[in-house]
Amino acid sequence: MADIIQLLPDHVANQIAAGEVVQRPASVVKELLENAIDAQAQTIKLLVKDAGKTLVQVIDDGVGMSVTDARLSFERHATSKIRSAEDLFQLNTKGFRGEALASIAAIAHVELKTKQEQDEVGTAITIEGSEVVNQDVVVTPKGTSIAVKHLFFNIPARRNFLKSNTVETRHITDEFQRVALAHPNINFVMYHNGSEIFNLPQSNYRQRIVNIFGPKTNEKLVPVNEDTDVLKISGFVGKPEFAKKSRGEQFFFVNNRFIKSAYLNHAISAAFDGLIKDGSHASYFLNLEVNPQTIDINIHPTKTEIKFDDEHTLYAILRASVKHSLGQFNIAPVLDFDRDANLDTPYNFTGKQASSPVIEVDRSFNPFNDDSVKTTPVTKTKSYASSFSNRKETPTASWESLYVGLESKSTRSQHDFSEVTFESEESTVSMFDDEQTTTKQSTYQLHNKFVFSAIKSGMLVIDQYRAHQRVLYEDFLKHITVKDTVSQQLLFPLQLTFTKQELDIIAQLKGDLEHAGFVFQDFNPDSLEIIGLPINVPESEVSIILEQLISDVEHEVPDAHFSAADLLAKSLAKSLAIKSGQTLSQTEQEHLVNSLFACKEPNVSPNNKPTFITMTVDELDKKFM
Ligand code: ADP
Ligand code: MG
Repeated sequence: MADIIQLLPDHVANQIAAGEVVQRPASVVKELLENAIDAQAQTIKLLVKDAGKTLVQVIDDGVGMSVTDARLSFERHATSKIRSAEDLFQLNTKGFRGEALASIAAIAHVELKTKQEQDEVGTAITIEGSEVVNQDVVVTPKGTSIAVKHLFFNIPARRNFLKSNTVETRHITDEFQRVALAHPNINFVMYHNGSEIFNLPQSNYRQRIVNIFGPKTNEKLVPVNEDTDVLKISGFVGKPEFAKKSRGEQFFFVNNRFIKSAYLNHAISAAFDGLIKDGSHASYFLNLEVNPQTIDINIHPTKTEIKFDDEHTLYAILRASVKHSLGQFNIAPVLDFDRDANLDTPYNFTGKQASSPVIEVDRSFNPFNDDSVKTTPVTKTKSYASSFSNRKETPTASWESLYVGLESKSTRSQHDFSEVTFESEESTVSMFDDEQTTTKQSTYQLHNKFVFSAIKSGMLVIDQYRAHQRVLYEDFLKHITVKDTVSQQLLFPLQLTFTKQELDIIAQLKGDLEHAGFVFQDFNPDSLEIIGLPINVPESEVSIILEQLISDVEHEVPDAHFSAADLLAKSLAKSLAIKSGQTLSQTEQEHLVNSLFACKEPNVSPNNKPTFITMTVDELDKKFM
């Protein structure tokens, strides 16, 4: 057979490599910004059009390139930053793989202009899909400008894969912010479709954070500083009372490079343990400095993950320093003794009595919960056997144990099996037996998560969170679309601070928010004032609800089916629905069941997940065969 192996042509190899480096316009932004920083620029401008789909351009005033370098910079594995593998462990630059420009040039139209300080004139090069279509001498200021147009023009599949402009812009802003945060000593400017989004002068770190996230951020920051042999930490964490519903403001920089680390993130969460509500996230802006020889950045093509030699030690130091700072700035004690009641009282439960504890149940008798089997696999056969023999000997006792806790309000006799038959024989128009609800408990909550209810044919198991979401969703949607809502007026206007992008998103949804019951007084550059709220939205939850909404708009919505009203209703329902873990009184359980079945589409949550399942008596019978 003839030889069949061939070397791939360069442009194909570049396209393949590009897949690793360039996933979306934001990847181009990151690579170009990093190159500008490596070129020692003092001022870096980022110009973006149509979320980067039409144009990403970075202009810097760095060292520039010679004619030969300009040409070579687009070759694969062409870099001025390392010469040998050993250099990998002494990295002081962002780039080192020499892949970015080659990759970008393989899948876009690239226009480069560059000039070194000492040269009279500079070089212009145009490349389209790895092919140099033009090279010229140009008059251009010192530094480099690289414009990347029509990204993925030759890979339609990738282009189609891009998300909505809102989502892609968010990715770009994220990259821009990360780079800008890591380099407060450089002036960064960003324009999108001609309007200035950021203008960040050279400053110290605190000012940089404030310039990016808004003036109100200043009062939220608690400094963290630690200097040990293995690790230097500097930066800030956000005060616990400003913890956010979204993970937006969480930044680790290791040796000035943004990284993601679930493990180190956990160290911060551990330091905040007990200070913030479940489901909220502390903000942090932390620079970690470690010996470059103790980390490996090369494990990830886009370089946001790195490997540390001694993660455990870093974890311990990080957690201790953050804890220390929170304590030192009096954060912890203040919260312990004088905390806002809203921080620890679950939604809708202020001022209510604690429910009495549920009686312990012997788990081996509980067919709804096979924990004992799962957690003690060794004794599996034994416990099955013993429960089985138990059941045989005293059938009524094991049956009872399933209903411990349900007895309190029940009027039926413990040994009365006739009731099951009674229900299945009953025929009323309603799915639920109204008469019985007045005399005995018709619903039962399990693990503060599921609500059980007897129905004619057997039983229903309702997921309380999803069910309530469905109820609220339909309610909000109705108000938003019918536009007939009632608002509660606030005694004092509520002032909320947001970044410019966040305010843009709220402004887009303003009309729908108003139909839902929000009344806005003022839209300022970095804040807004609310004077009225939908009836079922408590004032204390407003900022969390709006944050959730913003993050839903940013992250979850593909363009095509974007309906602002629907998204808003979904998001509000998600924020306001009673969560798993919340105890419901008998009346609340019944109300939930009734409202769910008054819905148009009771069987699925707004996100199309089942809200309940049914189990018929037949099915139950089968389980006992
Ligand atoms: P890397 O950054 O990994 O070296 P790149 O493909 O990003 O690889 O860039 C290749 C080379 O082009 C760099 O090593 C650098 O010498 C040169 N270069 C790229 N961008 C700039 C710039 N903005 N200013 C000066 N030189 C640049
Ligand atoms: Mg680079």
